[in-house]
Amino acid sequence: MAQHVSEGRIREMIEAVAAFTATPGRGTTRLTYSAQHRAALDYLAGRMQEAGLSTRIDSVGNLVGRLEGADPSLAPVLVGSHIDSVPNGGAFDGPAGVVAAIETAFCMQQLGVTPRRPLEVIAMIEEEGGRFGGGLLGSRILTGQLGPEALAPMCDSEGVSLGEAMAGFGLALQETGAAAIPEGGIHAFLELHIEQGPVLEQTGDAVGIVTSIVALSQLEVRITGAAGHAGTTPMAGRRDALVAAAGVIAELPGLCAAIDPRAVVTVGQIDVHPGGANVIPEAAIFSVDVRADRVGTVDAIKSALRTRLASLEAIGYAVGTEELLAVPETPMSEEIRGALIAAAEDCGFAWRPMPSGAGHDAMVLSKIAPVGLIFVPSRDGVSHTPEEWTDYDQLARGVEVVFRATRALTA
Ligand SMILES: [Zn+2]
Repeated sequence: MAQHVSEGRIREMIEAVAAFTATPGRGTTRLTYSAQHRAALDYLAGRMQEAGLSTRIDSVGNLVGRLEGADPSLAPVLVGSHIDSVPNGGAFDGPAGVVAAIETAFCMQQLGVTPRRPLEVIAMIEEEGGRFGGGLLGSRILTGQLGPEALAPMCDSEGVSLGEAMAGFGLALQETGAAAIPEGGIHAFLELHIEQGPVLEQTGDAVGIVTSIVALSQLEVRITGAAGHAGTTPMAGRRDALVAAAGVIAELPGLCAAIDPRAVVTVGQIDVHPGGANVIPEAAIFSVDVRADRVGTVDAIKSALRTRLASLEAIGYAVGTEELLAVPETPMSEEIRGALIAAAEDCGFAWRPMPSGAGHDAMVLSKIAPVGLIFVPSRDGVSHTPEEWTDYDQLARGVEVVFRATRALTA
């Protein structure tokens, strides 16, 4: 097969964007509405224009480039990802998808293709929540889920409000609604992202074609026992909340695997009260993050956890659980998956269907349009660190698939 994309140009764009960092030598730190964000947008707008796109910055700072279609009245196919980073992150998380979209436009230009549908490429703001928290801000504004009232109270760690930061970027908080895309306003959204996990590297597949973004639940569990003196209370009859919590936590991986070996469970936070070295813990409060292909699997794991916790009540503990977040799985569009699979097969690339364990802008945009998501390998599965890496030939294979699928979707 003839490769259309230019690996050299992809590398040049990734390296140029990575240089717009507030922490040179210590990874990519490109926070929304920062000077580095501005510099990256200026650079990318220039590359988009070189690729034949007309560019604009929408009312919240998303950069959009447009290749007019033969029928301009049709809704465009939107391709892209986010341009912000976590503090001291890598060069690929986000920019890989933006660069893939721009390279797609370069390929259209080189082949002299005028698509029937318009093609729009996008570099979105604040997906990571690195400055204002929450995350997925650009896509949530695009889908009309966040307006000025919801955005006004948001502040960064230095107390700068979102509105003030926007004003410094030449934008107005009151006009954020203008960025919202009405239902039917785009025909499809396609995103390339690094996998941020080890699967593709282990299997040797060129790309992962995402079937769905996993369902997830975040719980807070509180186990209450009885405090006591660490020296004078005999071991027999103690109700040590931390010992009880540790028992439950240690059993979680097995309990999860018994229900679905592909499901994942994580306890990332624990607080112990009263928290003295010589005091038997009265309460242990911990987080449980559960993710699986299907919400039914997540529910089954939650239910097994609740049964296990109920067994503590029989021996004198009080137990409470609160669900802080519950998101069902987001299926990817059959049509777009089909286009990605056909493109990968035309290229002779090994591909695998896989779920996405992380949320992405595509998850949010699925509320207004069919979406597709494609992964390229991440070395050692690492992400959100300066060591994040995808070989450029691996990235180029993913971009080739995006170009071919986009050509089909815009035809
Ligand atoms: Zn990302």
